[in-house]
Amino acid sequence: MSSGCLFCKIVTGMIPVELVYEDDVCIAFPDINPQAPSHTLVVPKEHLESLADVAPDHTELLGKLMAAANEVAKRKNLARGYRIVVNTGAQGGQTVMHLHLHVIGGRHMGWPPG
Ligand code: 5GP
Ligand code: ZN
Repeated sequence: MSSGCLFCKIVTGMIPVELVYEDDVCIAFPDINPQAPSHTLVVPKEHLESLADVAPDHTELLGKLMAAANEVAKRKNLARGYRIVVNTGAQGGQTVMHLHLHVIGGRHMGWPPG
């Protein structure tokens, strides 16, 4: 828990969200500003600033986050495909400094994003 961190407040229940998924290491909830018909955030319960801050002993956590993202995609009926995004650092477009995966789908995800 990092005081002042928005996603820590959501993880601890201080700010209520609609839970899409939860397990021992993470929760998933809808993005407040969806970029596609389906847009869910997968957030580790542990406060880590970004992917740039993970250590070798976070390897198992990262695997669990990816598996959770796939479970979210199943629950959101994204069998036709989806995109995982992990914005990292300011220049990477990260605005909330608590590691999270975006699970985005429900339309064709072209490249570049738009
Ligand atoms: P980032 O830009 O850091 O990769 O992603 C942060 C995401 O958090 C954005 O897509 C933004 O819409 C979402 N977000 C920001 N504030 C809130 C909030 O209070 N609740 C929820 N559910 N999502 C939020
Ligand atoms: Zn946090």
